[in-house]
Amino acid sequence: MSTGREDGKPVTPVEAAKTEGKLPKKLPWVIPVNCEGCGSCVNACKNGLMMKETNVAGVFVPWLDEPRRCTGCGRCAAVCVMGAISMTSYVEMALSRFLEKKPELPYEEIS
Ligand code: SF4
Ligand code: SF4
Repeated sequence: MSTGREDGKPVTPVEAAKTEGKLPKKLPWVIPVNCEGCGSCVNACKNGLMMKETNVAGVFVPWLDEPRRCTGCGRCAAVCVMGAISMTSYVEMALSRFLEKKPELPYEEIS
């Protein structure tokens, strides 16, 4: 089976999404340090995409488990009074973060 890459490496989830043309114009960018865990963004997503996750310190942060299903509507960002979600046009970076990284620590001193 072809990997679709000349170097023979497996296609990454971000590359696959680009190839499939499924990236919206914008994706949410979560800023964990600003989040108070109210859950409004989770309730606001009509596609049920915002999930409650905790980082390694056990601190709640919203997260997208299936970012390729996001339409980029911005409801999650609009309801957040803490400014913990912004819509970014750097969709490849946001997609990569959701797919390949765990939620980050809000503060380095939390262990
Ligand atoms: S609406 Fe904002 S403060 Fe509330 S859980 Fe979502 S990101 Fe956190
Ligand atoms: S931008 Fe819209 S579809 Fe995407 S996670 Fe937020 S509310 Fe859901």
